[in-house]
Amino acid sequence: MNLRPEEISSIIRQQIEKFETAVEVTDVGTVIQIGDGVARVYGLEECMYSELLEFPEGVLGMALNLEEDNIGVVILGPYRHIREGSVVKRTGRIASVPVGDGLIGRVVNPVGQPIDGKGPIKSDKFRPIEKIAYGVIFRGPVNTPLQTGIKSIDAMIPIGRGQRELILGDRQTGKTAIGVDAIINQKGQDCICVYVAIGQKNSTVANVVQRLTDEGAMDHTIVVSATASDPSPLLYIAPFAGCAMAEEFMEQGKDVLIVYDDLTKQAAAYRELSLLLRRPPGREAYPGDVFNLHSRLLERSAKLSKDMGGGSITALPVIETQQGDVSAYIPTNVISITDGQIILEPDLFYAGQRPAVNVGLSVSRVGGKAQRKAMRQVAGQLRLSLAQYNELAAFAQFGSDLDKATRAKLTRGERMLEILKQGQFVPMSLEDQVMIIYVGVNGLVDDIPVDLIRDFEVDFLKYMKAEKAAVGEDIKASLEITAANEAKLKEAIEEFKKRFKSQHGIS
Ligand code: ATP
Ligand code: MG
Repeated sequence: MNLRPEEISSIIRQQIEKFETAVEVTDVGTVIQIGDGVARVYGLEECMYSELLEFPEGVLGMALNLEEDNIGVVILGPYRHIREGSVVKRTGRIASVPVGDGLIGRVVNPVGQPIDGKGPIKSDKFRPIEKIAYGVIFRGPVNTPLQTGIKSIDAMIPIGRGQRELILGDRQTGKTAIGVDAIINQKGQDCICVYVAIGQKNSTVANVVQRLTDEGAMDHTIVVSATASDPSPLLYIAPFAGCAMAEEFMEQGKDVLIVYDDLTKQAAAYRELSLLLRRPPGREAYPGDVFNLHSRLLERSAKLSKDMGGGSITALPVIETQQGDVSAYIPTNVISITDGQIILEPDLFYAGQRPAVNVGLSVSRVGGKAQRKAMRQVAGQLRLSLAQYNELAAFAQFGSDLDKATRAKLTRGERMLEILKQGQFVPMSLEDQVMIIYVGVNGLVDDIPVDLIRDFEVDFLKYMKAEKAAVGEDIKASLEITAANEAKLKEAIEEFKKRFKSQHGIS
């Protein structure tokens, strides 16, 4: 190649103009105060809000208070080696986490580092953990159901993709069980799941992960874990980290289910670090923006419009109540942010009515539109018969001579409650749910003793699968109860009942 002299000189001139000495300029500050995982740092004037800062030994911190002459930083890791005078470097990065397919099947901490011992995360894309939620013009209506596989929820408190449904209950009432079952049920449903464990015991999280693995549900699930022994800033950012991972998939047009277990602990962690940062306390010592904390998180769950790819994030936030007090500060906050709530009652739980869903108080404000027709056809009657039962059950305890109509309603209600019982880790398909609820609401098991209803259900569904598979297939395909499949279903039920009755010696 021949270059003319003026070209050469122009290249040289360009080179000289672009020449820079390779001096790395980093902003460096010093720690002036440290304690309880919060540091005050002097000398980082340019620092951005929620920027990651590097402390000695590579420990990261996040800038949360930007004040006139210093900044307040929460430390995201061990901090015992950090002293007054320690050097702090800016990274220029806003707090972010790795995102993408490489995370599926993994267990990570809230900064996206693997904690499952399966090697590094394969991801070259990062996302800031905080992002402003999509506005209304980018959103579409909730119109596809998210089946949890739990009868009482899918029938009466239906959840749609893109909805936020709160799970509310005291300690040990089966809150986690609902979230985990919903995740297990997404197997093969084209829905990626994110389970965010906040402030739980390591052993509890390990159990959940083990269970998800055993059920083959880890193949579509990411677990983000900040356990009770982690510093509170990690508990605070864990839900945001999980949400960022979910958002990446939503923007690719996929459906995501995220379970935040639980946000009470996030609120407590946020209170702790806000007080340490000397932000003024408000009601119950929570900082004034704890409502904003939960709403800016939950607003990010959305169903995007077709133009935006149609992806969605469905959120199941969990809140723990004390003594069933749903009117406490944090529960009311989150109730008002979400699109409905599933209320779990200890009394029901101890009486063996599990999942212990309080059907009267639990609501779903948007999912009804997304419910499949087949389910809608049976669920209306179900609600009615349960309401009638609850009304009568209280006073029926006192009188023995009840009229026939009352007794019939009690009989029906008792059996419906039995049918709504469901074990853990056995999510059910739509058609199975529809068929057994059909049996119940049409009074076809009114002549079966209550204590045999559970057996009846199990045997009946087995029978339908083995001998009358076409009926279930038809409901699954048409998503409704048609005159044709209803006739076949009725016939099958009668046939099975004869068999069941003679087996158990019922006349
Ligand atoms: P915590 O407040 O400790 O987080 P939780 O409300 O999340 O508790 P779980 O851990 O889900 O409750 O459940 C409490 C116990 O009840 C567990 O031992 C679980 O196995 C059992 N359990 C939950 N759901 C059911 C169910 N449908 N049938 C039978 N047992 C259940
Ligand atoms: Mg739990």
